[in-house]
Amino acid sequence: MYKYAQVIIQFATLPEIDRFFTYEIPEAFRPHIRVGQRVKVPFGNHNAPQVGYVAFLLEEIEELGYTTKPLMGLVDEAPIINSKQWEIIHFMVMYYGTSFAAAIDAVLPPGLNAKPFSLEEEETYVALTPDTKEVTLYTLQNQHKKTFEKQRLLLNYLKEKGPIRQRDLKTQEEVSLSSLKTLEQKGLIRVFKAPLSFRPDPIAEEKFKILNSEQSAAKERLVQKIRAGEYGVFLLKGVTGSGKTEVFLYAIREVIESGGQVIVMVPEIALTKQTLERFQERFGNQVALTHSRMTPKERQRLYAKVARGEVTIVIGPRSAIFMPFTHLKMVVIDEAHEASYKSEMNPKYHAIDVALKRMQSEEGVVLLATATPSLESYYKVQIGEYEELVLKSRVGEATLPEVQMVDMRLELREGNNQAISRALHQGILETLERGHQVMLLINRRGHSTFINCRNCGYVIKCHHCDVSMTYHRSRQQLECHYCGHKEKIPETCPGCGSSHIKFFGSGTEKIEEYLEKYFHAYGIGRMDLDTTGGKDGHTVILEAFRKREINLLVGTQMIAKGHDFPAVGLVGIVSADMSLYMQDFRSNERTFQLLTQAMGRAGRSHIKGKVIIQSYNPEHSVLEAIRLNAGEAFYKEELANRKLLEYPPYGHIFTVMVTGKSEKEVIRSISLLGNYYRHYAQRAKTDFRIIGPSVATIGKLVDEYRWRIIIVSDNREKLLVYGRYCLTRFEEQEKIKTVKMQWDIDPLTML
Ligand code: ADP
Ligand code: ZN
Ligand code: ZN
Repeated sequence: MYKYAQVIIQFATLPEIDRFFTYEIPEAFRPHIRVGQRVKVPFGNHNAPQVGYVAFLLEEIEELGYTTKPLMGLVDEAPIINSKQWEIIHFMVMYYGTSFAAAIDAVLPPGLNAKPFSLEEEETYVALTPDTKEVTLYTLQNQHKKTFEKQRLLLNYLKEKGPIRQRDLKTQEEVSLSSLKTLEQKGLIRVFKAPLSFRPDPIAEEKFKILNSEQSAAKERLVQKIRAGEYGVFLLKGVTGSGKTEVFLYAIREVIESGGQVIVMVPEIALTKQTLERFQERFGNQVALTHSRMTPKERQRLYAKVARGEVTIVIGPRSAIFMPFTHLKMVVIDEAHEASYKSEMNPKYHAIDVALKRMQSEEGVVLLATATPSLESYYKVQIGEYEELVLKSRVGEATLPEVQMVDMRLELREGNNQAISRALHQGILETLERGHQVMLLINRRGHSTFINCRNCGYVIKCHHCDVSMTYHRSRQQLECHYCGHKEKIPETCPGCGSSHIKFFGSGTEKIEEYLEKYFHAYGIGRMDLDTTGGKDGHTVILEAFRKREINLLVGTQMIAKGHDFPAVGLVGIVSADMSLYMQDFRSNERTFQLLTQAMGRAGRSHIKGKVIIQSYNPEHSVLEAIRLNAGEAFYKEELANRKLLEYPPYGHIFTVMVTGKSEKEVIRSISLLGNYYRHYAQRAKTDFRIIGPSVATIGKLVDEYRWRIIIVSDNREKLLVYGRYCLTRFEEQEKIKTVKMQWDIDPLTML
């Protein structure tokens, strides 16, 4: 029996105490204690016992140089973190340099207090694997063996009765326990725990569509890999509407039928009621959903259900990757290019990395589905790490839309200073008159996005941030989109007192206003952060659009994603330029993805779709690629650029951001910190490329000044060690209290 436990303290916020502490296990607890359980331990000079997680159990320990204290009690009766999850926790600590406490926090449901958390393992059930082929095959191979007779009885019994409680089974005289064990080992029957009431719904096979030949080919390849029970990563590439979901529904079915479990990740906003229904009508109560609006209690309940094996498929955002499955065999990542899979908060991680790691060690399949692969994924396909499955055509009659570029400079020269060009106006009119619907994408909310004085050039900026204020007509005020600061609309210029204040730039409100003026009769809806505030805000608008109560939908990028509206004949991009000029090495890639996604909204059925893109710089390589449908060439060129700069996917990036209330202190600190980085880079004779210190893209945010250092290297491991080492040395030696420091590795954005 184990005598010692190595424990992580729950609230180990300081790095010094984020490590294993060894405790002696009192005799009475020894038979009950297991890895993954929570325990109460004495810690530091706290009077009250602290909660800790058992990470390792030991029979003996080496000389520690101090006497171990005994732990004081068990919090939970059973482990609440399983061994697969521990692997992820260790991975996160190693790969991202996150703390144990933060990684554990990510894995567990929110809101656990020091009370016992029961996973309620109530009953043990026995059921036949749904894979009847396996059973038949096994029967054929073994039917002449003497030992098979009893196994046959059990198999037949289970076939007839379905899932049955193990103790009920034991009362059956003809059933032998040893044959049960054998069959379980062979994977022909499943022994699992569930409460009394649980009955998994059967898979509704009649709901599966007959696949077209491209879909079938992709599905067959996946099935092959799933059957092999090996690790594999697939990039399922196909425009929206090409039938990707239908393909992975088949793959999921295959996994479930062989006793596996599945996580499906979706960017929250893209999960529509329709998608969920498609899962539920096929898999019934085997599917569960998790999302950010669930209460802690609801999340705990789901966590326990998954741990008990009552749920086979979890659909959810990035945090779903931590679900306590024990037979996880596939992770599907829908819209895999989405930035929301990267956590920007502690612990910082990318859910795709975690999914790859999980499936690598649990021997399953990762399926990345997207119309617009990230450059990283594209690269992984090139070097053979991922296998690409392509769906080239849309399902049924749907065809790719025609693309028209509008040069907004010309528009201005010819006397139209509206945000909507004549071509787009005409396009909207014709589409609506034909009885089809229109979507307009504009990347900014509010009315006017830029307010300045004609007389002296003064720009109205937020008092707390280095960004310009946005005019919101509906609320009759100016708002900062970064910190929420609000202001009255000034009547005269704060700089010179002139009354020549002009409003520039268009947001969703202004476009809506324009549409109301000309197309009121068709019904207009607006979808942005301001109109989707309520619990079901965006569902309500999307439903109205689906039911054709409104025929014109204007919105921010949230309308570009995943939705399937068959009657949309035109998609207009009001300004393709805004995201192109962000100071970020990924801005080309992002713009390309956003535009491709938006285009995917047009012509999703028999309607021939059209896309009109407005730009002040239509010659830009991204827009050229879109116009010419030259995605492949665009990816190649972007990759070449990245290679030149050693940016991802070729190199890795480590960033440190220094923030503080005093600009002087921030600059002084980061200059000093820069010296540390240069000094140690030189001493270690490395070829790390150190960029900066320089002011961040947004130089001031919520009254804090922001400066950063960027370090690039192709050796991720060394970069992480070096990046953190210099920071620690700096903190130890300089002891500067007036600024905060934050670091990240492989960041997705560089704001
Ligand atoms: P994607 O996930 O690539 O956007 P979907 O799987 O959602 O594509 O398919 C788009 C539409 O076509 C959906 O309404 C879906 O039900 C339908 N569909 C997909 N595959 C088939 C098929 N083989 N037969 C009939 N309809 C299909
Ligand atoms: Zn002025
Ligand atoms: Zn602000």
